[in-house]
Amino acid sequence: MARILLVGAGGVARVMAVKIAQAPEVFSSLCIASRTLEKCRIVGDRVAGALPVTTARVDADDAPAVASLIRREQAGIVLNAALPEQNLPIMQACLEAGAHYIDTSAPEPVPGQYEMFAYKWQLAYHEQFKAAGLTALLSIGFDPGMTNVFAAHLAERLDVLETLDILDCNGGSHGHPFATNFNAVTNIQEITQPAAWWENDRWKQEPAFQTQASYLLPGLGPRKLTRIYHEELETIVARMPAVRRAQFWMGFSDDYLRHIEILGKIGLLGTTPISCQGTEVIPLQFLRHTLPDPATLGASYTGRTHIGCLARGTLNGAPTTLYIYNVCDHEDAFTESGAQAVSYTAGVPPVVAAELLLASCTDWNKPGVWVPEDLPAAPMLVRVARRGLPWRLIDGTNIAQESSAPASPES
Ligand code: NDP
Repeated sequence: MARILLVGAGGVARVMAVKIAQAPEVFSSLCIASRTLEKCRIVGDRVAGALPVTTARVDADDAPAVASLIRREQAGIVLNAALPEQNLPIMQACLEAGAHYIDTSAPEPVPGQYEMFAYKWQLAYHEQFKAAGLTALLSIGFDPGMTNVFAAHLAERLDVLETLDILDCNGGSHGHPFATNFNAVTNIQEITQPAAWWENDRWKQEPAFQTQASYLLPGLGPRKLTRIYHEELETIVARMPAVRRAQFWMGFSDDYLRHIEILGKIGLLGTTPISCQGTEVIPLQFLRHTLPDPATLGASYTGRTHIGCLARGTLNGAPTTLYIYNVCDHEDAFTESGAQAVSYTAGVPPVVAAELLLASCTDWNKPGVWVPEDLPAAPMLVRVARRGLPWRLIDGTNIAQESSAPASPES
């Protein structure tokens, strides 16, 4: 049994709270703490009665404040559902106050500035967590998170995993002209970075949104996806050196891409402060406040998300293609958790990771700092399916259709 401190009160936190409340035999209490107390109360109200729930206001950029909250709540595990810029201060607080740590995305060492290849900042804490007998589980949402676990599972299944393509397509509709499915600042910065992928022992790079390819996605049908850089590529490539090529593909509608292009052209995606009638404003932060709050999208969302990993390699000497994926229905996710499927798929795995951390029979309670593919895939795959995210492993021969990749994309 563990007392949980959940930091953040957005869509992902809402799902985590619901999943924690469904397992009172594992989690003995829940404190929901975030910048805006009212949002904590809304999340808390949904799960009140299932286990003892408290709320607190905290600035998670302030490591000593988080540490004193951990001590006051006697929390054994901190689940970080705030923003990537809070990863490092919350990890420091865990070390100071003696709690395990779990998050869902790579850190942002400079607040508000997305950084590619950023895991070094968190992995640097490995020896300190190990010495303290504490575990930090990094980026265990869905992507990153389950995609790392899927990749590790495929690497175990194949004799040689030669190429890996991670496919993420939200086939749902929220009814708004333009919205992001999680924090707009994080989301828009990550997709507008140059697209980077690993090929033949080096990173290659091209401008954002340049290359598209068609895939036949079970549950969604044929979809055109766009190559982008996504953070799990960094650690998957580092831990699977035999992989010849690793890429990430995401589904964007033409309309979504048109919005991004126009917002960029008129300067609203900028992260440098500008003066607006005497007040300093960061255009992208301002834009976030004009868009729908991602946590409120669920009520009108229909359709499904699809995230999977396509691996080509060899098995018993024969060329083999495998595909492992999850499909999640927005309306089902909302009925259960009050959040849409993007939040749901991100919020379930960290709670399962906390369960595994507490279970003595798995290797998920190793002191140190770990990414998901460092730990055994099987227990996570079994439990995450039971807890709401079923997955399928199929022959992937027909998944990839045609590609519009330039003949020889270069860095
Ligand atoms: P939201 O923006 O909806 O929620 C973020 C929450 O963090 C808000 O409650 C916000 O408070 C709070 N917060 C922000 N800054 C601070 C601070 N300094 N101190 C305390 N609380 C703070 O985001 P989501 O719920 O959609 O996403 C949460 C996290 O999940 C993000 O890190 C995102 O990158 C990650 N994610 C991971 C996915 C995956 O599959 N791996 C997929 C989707 C998201 P306030 O409301 O006051 O601003």
